[in-house]
This record gives sequence, structure tokens and C-alpha cells, in this order.
Amino acid sequence: MGPVVQNDDNRGCSQRSCRGGRTGVRRDRGRTGIRGALLVLALSALASGCAGGGGGGGAVRPAPGQQPRKAAPPQAPAARALHAYAGRLRAAQQARVAAARRWGLRGVPLTPPAPPAHKPEITTRKGFEVDDHEELGLPPVFTTVPTDDRVVFLTVDDGAEKDPAFLRMMNELKVPYTAFLSNYLIKDDYGYFKKMRDLGVTLNNHTLHHPYLPALSYARQKREICGMQEVMRERFGERPALFRPPYGNYDQDTLRAAKSCGVRYAPLWDEEVFADHWEYREADQDLHPGDIVLTHFRGRGDWKGTMPGMVRRFLDKVTAKGYAVARLEDYL
Ligand SMILES: [Zn+2]
Repeated sequence: MGPVVQNDDNRGCSQRSCRGGRTGVRRDRGRTGIRGALLVLALSALASGCAGGGGGGGAVRPAPGQQPRKAAPPQAPAARALHAYAGRLRAAQQARVAAARRWGLRGVPLTPPAPPAHKPEITTRKGFEVDDHEELGLPPVFTTVPTDDRVVFLTVDDGAEKDPAFLRMMNELKVPYTAFLSNYLIKDDYGYFKKMRDLGVTLNNHTLHHPYLPALSYARQKREICGMQEVMRERFGERPALFRPPYGNYDQDTLRAAKSCGVRYAPLWDEEVFADHWEYREADQDLHPGDIVLTHFRGRGDWKGTMPGMVRRFLDKVTAKGYAVARLEDYL
């Protein structure tokens, strides 16, 4: 799902001025489906000036002393819906610009493309397989989602810091992220994460106690992973489809246990962002389309900064490099 659009503002646009503007401002990638096509049309409508806030950019305005031209016939319902959509897009973008300024970002975060109509095939990264990984149908372990979209995915782990400013910032900026939670860190305040869920964030499994899993028997691993599935269901209403092993360490037992209680994917990460620096997995020390970025719920007690400060560092780099932040679940 794309950013939540809150404003239905559609004022100041004459019917006439909204018709016929066909400036192609965006190429359809041919894979974004109806919503993508709508977006293209809506952006065309925007470019035509119909959403220009009452000025009727490029519209037929009579010169002084001249008779106004005859009104165009009323808009068809489809055109009106399209026009309303363009208005909502414009309002959403204005809100994003204002939020970026308020939170001290260097640039406005880029809007991700519509979720892919055909989901990419997720396979385990080479070298990350366990014995009989595919034969047993175990959840794929991956660090990047195969896509040509210029997007990265933000994942936030553990759950120690519960900063209300982080929830406000991400919601106002409409930047999606995915949380991986460990019960021993969140159980003193499930309410914080309920709020997060209610804001549209998917909450996922990061075990009960954050152990180094390969040191544990199959039965104990299963307790850690499947026990957390139950906590998530009880507290947040759903058993997650995503599980991330603590420290990124796992063995075949881990993935077998995870599969046994409904886990379908085991995403790791390609970069990690801290309050004061980045760390990369690849030799080129750079971002790539589809990269999963890891960070943590941490505050001043754990690192030299705050959650909003970390997000600022993350977004400033991602935006400067021409990437948008997309929702991981939309690609799975
Ligand atoms: Zn962790």
C-alpha cells in the first residue's frame, strides 16, 4: 500500500481546466496495473494545471471585455474521480513537503512507485542456504528484493526504545517500515507497538528472548520462534509471515521451526544504519535497488543520538541517492 492520503481537497479547479491535459509526465513501467495507470493519468491531470489551486493554469480565461467561452459539457464520473484523485495526490505531496521541513530533512522523501502487480520471486541469497533449503520448502533468506524499482526497504529491530516522536515522524512523512520485535523488550509497553500497527506498520517476529539460535536445540528454537508467533497473535491479532533471526544467525533447525509455525520469509539486510554512521554488506559500500536496510529501536542510552536523528540520516542519504522507501510487504 502506498502512502495514506488524508486530504480530500479538490477545490479551485474548473471542470474545463481539468480536461484534456495530456502532458506525459511519467512513464508507465507496464507493470503497475490499474492503480499505476490512474497515477499516470492523475499526474497528467496535475500537469495540465487542473490541480493548480484555482488559477486554472492554461485554462480559458476571458480577456477583459470579452464574453466567456461556452462552458464545456459536465465531466463524466470517471473524469471526476480522476480529478479528485489528482487533488488528493497534490494534498499528500504538500503535506510531505511540510513534514520534511518540520523534521529537518535536507530533501522531501521520494514517493515510491505503486506496489508491483506481479510480485518478484524471492529466493535465498547465494551462500545463505541451509541443507535441503529448497527441497524442504524452507523460508527464503535474502538481503535484497529483486526489483528494478529505485526503492529500499527500512526494517527496525528489537523494540527497546519506544519514542513517540519516531511514530509521529514516520507517520507525518508517510515513510513505510517493517518492525521485527523481540518479546522481552516490548512486553513492558505493547501499547506503543499497537499504535504502530494502527498506523499501518506490519509487526514481525524476532523471537521471545533474542538468543543466538544456532546454539539451541530444535525444540528450544521452536519455543523462541513459535512462542513469539503466539505472543504476536494474542497482542496484535496476527501471526507474522516474516521472521528475522537475532544477529542474522540461523541454521536448518531455525528455518524448519519457523516454517512449522507459519513463517514464509526470513529477510536479513544489506545495510545497517546507526545514529552516527552506516555499515554496508557489499564491497561497493553503496545502496542498490531493493536493498533491505536494518536499524534498531534505540535511544541515547544505546547510541549517540535519537530515533528521529537516525531517520534523518537514513532519509537524507536515500533521497540524495534518488531512492524512495517502499513497503517490504508490498513486494512479497
Ligand atoms: Zn535484534
